[in-house]
Amino acid sequence: MSQDLNANRPPWAIPGFLEIKNNRLAIGGVDALELVSTYQSPLYVFSEQRIRHNVERLKRAETALGGLPLKVCYAAKANSNMAILRAVKEAGADIETNSGGELFKALKIGFRPEQIIFNGTSKTEDEHADAIRAGIYAIQADSVFEVEQIEKVALRLNKPANVSLRLVPEIETDTMHGLQTAMLTSKFGMLSDEVFECFRRFGKSELVRLRGIHLHLGSQTPDAAPFAEAFLKLFKVLKEIYDETGIRLEHLNLGGGFPTNYALDAANLSGLPAERQYLFAADLEPAEVLTAAIRVVKGAAERSDALHLLENLAILLEPGRSVIADAGVLLTTIRNVKSRPLMQTELEIQNPKSKIQNDEWLLTDAGYNLLLSMNNYKWYYHLISASRAAEKHETAYKLAGPLCDGGDVYFDIEGTRRLPDYRLLPENVGPSEVLALFNIGAYSYAQMFPYNGRPLPAAVLIRENGAVELIRKADTYETLIESDIW
Ligand code: PLP
Repeated sequence: MSQDLNANRPPWAIPGFLEIKNNRLAIGGVDALELVSTYQSPLYVFSEQRIRHNVERLKRAETALGGLPLKVCYAAKANSNMAILRAVKEAGADIETNSGGELFKALKIGFRPEQIIFNGTSKTEDEHADAIRAGIYAIQADSVFEVEQIEKVALRLNKPANVSLRLVPEIETDTMHGLQTAMLTSKFGMLSDEVFECFRRFGKSELVRLRGIHLHLGSQTPDAAPFAEAFLKLFKVLKEIYDETGIRLEHLNLGGGFPTNYALDAANLSGLPAERQYLFAADLEPAEVLTAAIRVVKGAAERSDALHLLENLAILLEPGRSVIADAGVLLTTIRNVKSRPLMQTELEIQNPKSKIQNDEWLLTDAGYNLLLSMNNYKWYYHLISASRAAEKHETAYKLAGPLCDGGDVYFDIEGTRRLPDYRLLPENVGPSEVLALFNIGAYSYAQMFPYNGRPLPAAVLIRENGAVELIRKADTYETLIESDIW
């Protein structure tokens, strides 16, 4: 069957990971329908092999840096299931945490303190104390007030804190508004004046060890230019700090934001505005991005006679989506169907071959309780029939989840064309057919919630040797009430 697949491989297939076997989807060689019959639906499925592939791809970008060491810190917010963290660690990444809880998980799974950085806009004194006690690589301070607070806690603990300052670089990217994090209008980071103020005040401090500066452009940044601009900005600030205070920074942190290609089959998105298509189809090779970025920075360093400031300078990245998004699949089952008179929509543009007379609705067991971004950002997740993966996907359906909200749908109910109105699947899809949503590994599992009394589902990891490991057991009705007091 694999040979047939190679001859006519669908655009979503990845050899050894997402394949067709006997007309059904196989994930890492394991039959998707068997997984659902063993672990129930809906079900998250992750691939250890794909995680390793993604981490290695990011680490390879070190070769672009011409001798500068690269530290790849996986952004745990994207997915912090403990087995996922273990897989990421074993693949060779370090870790970026964004709360005391993520810091706790990182230490618990065995990341060494020097592998951990700690971000966040609203950290508590307890969280600072945990980070200082552990002796992590850097607490990334978000304001002058936070640096003062770190100093206070370090004094109380009588232990120095490693600190890096988050800069707001005022760089706009082509991602969605909610995912922009580097503009003055966003809530993150310090102005360059505030960064300099911190270096003047704390530059020689024994308690606050200022080691680097940091920025994050935003998630799903679709092109390389803003990364180069950001790297240059960081370097200029590093140089000014050196010129003004004589302090040499140990690292520059370029944040995360490498995109994942969600479009997979462009035909499905043809009715969307060009900028949405561009965003979802984005695909950047990290090594190419860093090659372009370091060229700009080396040029600037040469011109200003400051090449020596690059010596032994560590470059940090904080990728989340590009590590885990395409390593995850969500399996969901059709629970209900209905037929409605055809709406006047973009159907013909999206799928001229469709012959449907009515809107055929498919009601799944996965709504925005599991796919929050689909609702928040109208995020596109490509889907196929896992039950009939090899068949032509040319029949248009309207899809919706199980929640009691009219907005729990797989299209843009506001009519602003941010998602396709219809999804293309084989003919006669009906109850109990299993669908697979691709690229759901990031910001989906991590954001699920038990709305409408729906217990959170199980998750499995397909190990590199093909073994299926349960990495999250499904909640039960009892789990739903275990924290309530009555
Ligand atoms: N670093 C910071 C500070 C972030 O806020 C985020 C995500 O929002 C990331 C890293 C990870 O971004 P991505 O998953 O797009 O790589």
